[in-house]
Parts: sequence; structure tokens; C-alpha cells
Amino acid sequence: MTSLPTDLDSFSQTVKHLWQRMNPCTLCPRNCKVYRSKGEVGFCGIARLPVVSSVGPHFGEESVLVGTGGSGTIFFAGCNLGCIFCQNFDISHHRCGHKVTIEKLAQSMLELQRYGCCNINFVTPTHVVPAIVAAIELARKNGLSLPTVYNTGGYDSIETLKLLHGYMDIYMPDMKYSDSKVAQQLSAAPDYPEVNQEAVKEMHRQVGDLQVEKGLATHGLLVRHLVLPDNFAGSFEIIDFLAEQVSPKTTINVMDQYRPCYKASTQPKINRRPTLQEIESVRNYALDKGLNVLD
Ligand code: SF4
Repeated sequence: MTSLPTDLDSFSQTVKHLWQRMNPCTLCPRNCKVYRSKGEVGFCGIARLPVVSSVGPHFGEESVLVGTGGSGTIFFAGCNLGCIFCQNFDISHHRCGHKVTIEKLAQSMLELQRYGCCNINFVTPTHVVPAIVAAIELARKNGLSLPTVYNTGGYDSIETLKLLHGYMDIYMPDMKYSDSKVAQQLSAAPDYPEVNQEAVKEMHRQVGDLQVEKGLATHGLLVRHLVLPDNFAGSFEIIDFLAEQVSPKTTINVMDQYRPCYKASTQPKINRRPTLQEIESVRNYALDKGLNVLD
């Protein structure tokens, strides 16, 4: 396996800037300030090389991302959030996977394209964007033409996002909470609501509302919101924010699949599934506000 390039000359200034932001690391709002190129790790638990847990076509994503060939997902291990209800805790918290180089990452994208996938979907990318952007440059030089999807938990810093402009066609952030105390309790990120809202505004500034051609998303913003029991996520405030401060035409997926996983049973308020009525009330509220709610 070749290592990450110590000489970044063949890459753009953007890649170099991103690399600098990793040493000391201020890539995300945690600002751990560890030297990841020296092997140090911060909150996300990943050092110099990205760790990939799986690569392949995925048919469980939103239909606008799936088409007939599936969404070409690359799942990254580690995470900059600490969600106690994480459904992928073996990947995000236990960091199961294999270290990959930029060259290997670029190769994986081209393989997904050859396989017939509709897009390249980077799952949990925030903490490994320097390698992702470098790999996109390499893959595009070698024929990658698919849209790219930034599939994030939504805890992203503006400075880093600005460097992604032109590299990501579709931003698909979570908007998890509108309340700081809840964000602290469930994800160890008390500043999540304000950081997340600013991040979503920046994403929309870059790519605008979601554009769909022949049933497939080509670029734009697609927000995911997971409904929690008893409106614990603050769903209505999130919808208000989108309608009033981002765009009344925002596309949103109101997700109904919450179930208590990982350590969720330690928190009585979220130790059950949301009811159908709770989910429908959020969905109807979003429709009433005029948002484009996915089926
Ligand atoms: S990317 Fe990881 S190491 Fe860097 S600031 Fe975020 S959590 Fe910390």
C-alpha cells in the first residue's frame, strides 16, 4: 500500500489547505488541535489515513440517489459526533474498517462508476475530507463524472465547507437537534444546533435547492431529519429554520426509522420508537410550510 503523499505538489491549493487544517486539526468544530499526520488522534479517532468500512452500491438511500444502479457508497469509520443512539456504532465508535490511501480511494470511486452507480456517496466524511478531496481530484483526472454526495451528520465547520466548494455536488446533512441541551445529552455536542444551522446555510449557498433530472438528484441540498420520540429532536424548530432561513423549497427527508440502539436505553426519553402520529405531525408540518418532503 502506498502512503499518503508527503509531497502534495500534484494536488491543488485546496487540498494543501485542507491538509494544513488537519495539522493541528481544526477540520471540524471540535478543534482538537492534534497533529494527525504524526499519528495523533482527536475525538473522531482517526489519524493520518482514512479508514473505510465498506464500498459498494447501496439501494437503501433516498430514491433520488439510488436509480437502477444504486448509490455508490463509501462508508468511513470514525465520527466527530458521539451519538448514543448510533445505528452504525461498530463503524463510527468502534472504527471497524481498513486504512486506505488517496490512490485507493480514487480507485474505489472509479470502480463504483464502472459498476453503474448513480453517484459517489461519502458517508460520514467530515473528519477525512483532505483525503476525499485529493481522491476526487485524482479520480476526475481519470474520468470520474458522477455527482458526489456529502452525506454528513451535519457537525461541519464553515471554514472547511468553503474549501469543499466545487467538489461536492449534493450536500446531504443531518439536522439532528434544535436544542443545545439535547445535543449535549445525545451527541456530546452542545453547539450542534448553531454550528449545524450555519453549515446548512453554507451548503445551500454553494449548491442551492435540490435538482432532480429523470428521477435522479444531480446537485443541491437534501436535508435529513430523524424524528425522535416525544419531539425530543425539536423537529418543528428545524423545519421553521429551513423554511424561513434557508429556502422554502428545501428538500427534506423526514426519517421514521429511529429505534433505540447502542446506548439509547440509558436515556429514558428516547428508549422507544416514535409513534406514527409523532412522525406524521412532523411530516405534515413540513408540508404545510411548503418544503419538498420526500415520500
Ligand atoms: S476532525 Fe477529528 S481530530 Fe479533527 S477536530 Fe474534528 S474530531 Fe477533532
